[in-house]
Amino acid sequence: METETILLISDESEPEDSTTNRRRAEEQDPLEGKRNLRKKKPKIDNDRKDQMPTTSDKKDDENQEPAKIDPIEYETDTRYEILTTLEGACFQSRFPYDKMTTYEIVAFPEFTKKTTIEQRRIYLGIRNRILKMWLENVKQQLTYDFVVKNIEKPFDIDPVLIKRIFTFLERYGYINYGIFTKLEEIKEKRREKIIVIGAGISGLIAAQKLQSFGFEVIVLEARDRVGGRVATFRKSNYIADLGAMVVTGIYGNPITILAKQLDLELKKIKAQCPLFGSNGKLISKSKDEIMELEFNKILECTSYLSHVLDFNYADNTPISLGQAIEWIIKLQEKKIKMKKINYLKNIKEIQQEVISNEQAIADINSDILVLKDNLMQILDHQKVADDEENRLRLEFKKREIIRDLTKKRKEKNDKKKRNQELDAKLKELDEPPSDVYLSSEDRAILDWHLANLEFANATPLQNLSLKHWDQDDDFEFIGHHTTGEYTL
Ligand SMILES: Cc1cc2nc3c(=O)[nH]c(=O)nc-3n(C[C@H](O)[C@H](O)[C@H](O)COP(=O)(O)OP(=O)(O)OC[C@H]3O[C@@H](n4cnc5c(N)ncnc54)[C@H](O)[C@@H]3O)c2cc1C
Repeated sequence: METETILLISDESEPEDSTTNRRRAEEQDPLEGKRNLRKKKPKIDNDRKDQMPTTSDKKDDENQEPAKIDPIEYETDTRYEILTTLEGACFQSRFPYDKMTTYEIVAFPEFTKKTTIEQRRIYLGIRNRILKMWLENVKQQLTYDFVVKNIEKPFDIDPVLIKRIFTFLERYGYINYGIFTKLEEIKEKRREKIIVIGAGISGLIAAQKLQSFGFEVIVLEARDRVGGRVATFRKSNYIADLGAMVVTGIYGNPITILAKQLDLELKKIKAQCPLFGSNGKLISKSKDEIMELEFNKILECTSYLSHVLDFNYADNTPISLGQAIEWIIKLQEKKIKMKKINYLKNIKEIQQEVISNEQAIADINSDILVLKDNLMQILDHQKVADDEENRLRLEFKKREIIRDLTKKRKEKNDKKKRNQELDAKLKELDEPPSDVYLSSEDRAILDWHLANLEFANATPLQNLSLKHWDQDDDFEFIGHHTTGEYTL
C-alpha cells in the first residue's frame, strides 16, 4: 500500500534530478550534438526515449504500460507532432503522468498520503484528460463547459473538483496559452492594475495571461520595439534572427504549441556540424571527436570545481566560467609540461645509474684481475711450500681469494643485469611525451567550441558565473532542435 502511495504522490515536481541529467549528458554521443547551440548533446538518450509517449492514437488507459517510440521512425521524421495521447499530453505539458507535482500537492492538499489510491487516480485522470483536450485543439480556448461535457466516466463524478483542476491548470499556464480563439468573454473584471516591465516574450505572455484573468495590464518597454531578445533583422532580401531562432527541443516546449497555433512549420535541424579549419579543409572526424571530448572534459572539470569542490570565489570575487576554463587549460598545460619534465628526469636518472654501473663494473674487473694475479702467486707458492703450516696458510689464503673472486663476479653480474633492465626501460621510454597540451589547430577547434558556448549563452564566457551559468540545464527540453521556415 505504502509503495503505491509513493508512486502516485511524489515530492518531486521534476521526474529527474540534475545528477541524472549530467550523467546522461556525459554518456551521449559526442558528435551527434546540438553543439551548434549548447554544451550538451540533443540526441535523445535511450532512457528518455522510453519515457516518451507515442504520438499515435491508442486507447486511453491510466493503467497501460508507457508506450515506446520507434527510435528510427522518430529520428527520420522531420515534422513534429504535438503529443496528444494521455501520456503524451502530460509529457508535452512537463507533468509526470502518474504523479502529482509539488505544486499540485500544495494546491490540492487533500490529496495527501491519507487519500485512497482511487481518489488520486481520479485526480490524475481529470488532470491528464484536461491537458489532452487542450493539446488536441490548441487553436481554440478550452472551456470548463467543454471539459465537463466531454470528460468520460468515472472522471466526471465531481464537477467541483474538475473546476478546481481546470482553474489550476489555467492559472499556471498549462492550458489556454499562446495565440488561440477565445470562446468566452472574460467573466470577472478585476480592480487591480498590473504593470509588467519588459515586452520580451516573458513579459508579453505574462501580460496576456494576466489580462485573461481580468486584470488591467500595462506593459512598459524601454526600447522602441517589442520582442526583447527575440528580434529579426531585415535588409532587402536578407533576413537574420538576432535572438531566438531555434526551438531547442520540441517536447515539453510551449514554443512548439505557439508554432502549431501559428501554422508555422518547424524544420528539424541536422545534428551534424562539420568543422572546417582556417585553410578551408574539413577537420578530420577523429580530431573533431577528440577535441569535442576535450571540450566536454574541460566543462566537466569546471562543474567539478564549482559543484563538488565549491570553488566559486577567488579573493571574495565570484569566478567566471571563462576564468575557470582558462585556469583548467593552464593547469592542463602545466600537467603536460610536468609529464615531460618527469620523463626527462626519469631518463637522466636511468642514464646516471647506467654510467655508475659501468664504472662499478670496470672497477670490479680490475679487482678481479688483481685477485686472479694473487691467486696465481698463491698456487705457485703452494707448489714449493715445504712445511705443513705454510701449506695450510697458503690454502687458507687461496680459499679466501676464491671467495672474494666469487663475490666480485656476482657483483659484476648483478650490475650487468641491472644495466640490461635499465636499457629495456630506456627503450620503453623511447617516445618522449609531447610538451604541448594543445597544438595551434587543437586550440583553434577548442576556441570554436568556446565561442559556440558564448553564442549559446549570448554573452562572453567572462560574463557567466561559474556557479550559476548552467542552472537551467535541468529544465532542458528534449527532442529535435527545429527552426521555423521563412518565406520572403
Ligand atoms: C543571439 C541570441 C540567440 C538566441 N537564440 C535562441 C534560440 O535559438 N532559441 C531559444 O529558445 N532562445 C534563444 N535565445 C534566448 C531567447 O532569446 C531568450 O531566452 C528570450 O528571448 C528571453 O525572453 P525574455 O522576455 O525573458 O527576456 P528579453 O527578451 O530580454 O526581454 C526583456 C525586455 O525587457 C526590457 N527591459 C529590461 N529592463 C527594462 C526596464 N527597466 N524598463 C523597461 N523595459 C525593460 C528589455 O528591453 C526587453 O525588451 C537567444 C538569445 C540571443 C541573444
